[in-house]
Amino acid sequence: MARLQLPKGVTVLERGWLSSNNILHIGVDHCALIDSGYCTHSDQTLLLVESALQGRALDLLLNTHLHSDHVGGNAALQARYPALQTLIPPGHAAYVAAWDTEKLTYKPTGQNCPQFRFDGTLQPGTEVRLGDLHWQVHAAPGHDSHSVILFEPHSRTLVSADALWERGFGVVFPELDGDDAFHEVAQTLDVIAALNPLLVIPGHGSPFTDVPAAIARARQRLAGFVADPARHLQHAAKVLLKFKLLELQSVSLQGLLAWAEATPYVAKLVAMQYADHTLAQALDLLVQDLVRAGAATLQGTQLHNA
Ligand SMILES: [Zn+2]
Repeated sequence: MARLQLPKGVTVLERGWLSSNNILHIGVDHCALIDSGYCTHSDQTLLLVESALQGRALDLLLNTHLHSDHVGGNAALQARYPALQTLIPPGHAAYVAAWDTEKLTYKPTGQNCPQFRFDGTLQPGTEVRLGDLHWQVHAAPGHDSHSVILFEPHSRTLVSADALWERGFGVVFPELDGDDAFHEVAQTLDVIAALNPLLVIPGHGSPFTDVPAAIARARQRLAGFVADPARHLQHAAKVLLKFKLLELQSVSLQGLLAWAEATPYVAKLVAMQYADHTLAQALDLLVQDLVRAGAATLQGTQLHNA
């Protein structure tokens, strides 16, 4: 792949799919980080950030949205850098203040996130200084109703969070609660197209430059979900299972069933796929799908990440 020209002072700490990418901005007198990964990787996040900062302190942490794979390292970073200021999108700020893990979706999705604090909010329509550059904050509802994306107009670089990946976009979570949100995904793709970025740094995966092709793929995928919303729900069920498997790496089918039973949101979503089946049977069929897709392997009754 050709070397991408990132804006001056910007480093992308590319992570896997369990942890979001971390985007570091090093300026003359100011260092900032966008998103902090999943909690089980927080030691690695600290090491990566410390090594890139070369002895300097992190001044500012901001989150594009509050999913567990984007904020799981917040608490560790706040402990490591006591003067760190943390900014989050305004939509769920009250739930962070009250630490409502139900509303923040950590509990219903069966994911973990250590409690963190915040010092202010990232209002869409404003700008924020990261390192030496000023980035525009844009609302990007769809994958998450309150997500923001960040755009630097001189280099035309977009930090797209989970609103646009090189191939697709994140599960449209509001749809899982029965809220219509596919049109928001489309509107956010329109916002991105209008910004006309030359370079996109996504929440997961490598930065990429063929943005029109990525937008076209995303629109096509969205059209498929709009035409057949059940397909989106099935995709979401598999994504939540795969996320847990990425976290655990290996789990017995019995253990996975116990987790699903204790996580009503997941249980509902899994059971919905196969109406005439028990939760155990539906889970079994979804596991077989994951194995067929090469996302997992099964040895006896032990499921492994692949
Ligand atoms: Zn997300």
